[in-house]
Amino acid sequence: MQDTETIREALLAKREELRQLDESSAADSATVELDQQKVGRLSRMDALQAQEMALATKRRREIEHGRIDAALKRLEDDAYGECLGCGEEIGEKRLALDPATPTCIDCARKGSAGE
Ligand SMILES: [Zn+2]
Repeated sequence: MQDTETIREALLAKREELRQLDESSAADSATVELDQQKVGRLSRMDALQAQEMALATKRRREIEHGRIDAALKRLEDDAYGECLGCGEEIGEKRLALDPATPTCIDCARKGSAGE
């Protein structure tokens, strides 16, 4: 398994990335409102749809943010890398792909905790 400092850095970098995405999409929705006034009713539906998509994206990011925080907490508690579903070790490759993942591949397939 990778050393915890490397994992922590990867998690913090991911969290920072999410924060920046959030900021840039906040700027995007401000743009949508301005455009709407300019082009009028026809694009109102488009603007609403875009807004809904932005909300869904924001929600996904909040969930991801929560997973990252939880993973950082597990690092501190020395429980990192243990599956929340079954307590087995999570595969190294799986953690490398997604350092915030809370479950092993088997539990993820079964659709339990947090995935
Ligand atoms: Zn498991």
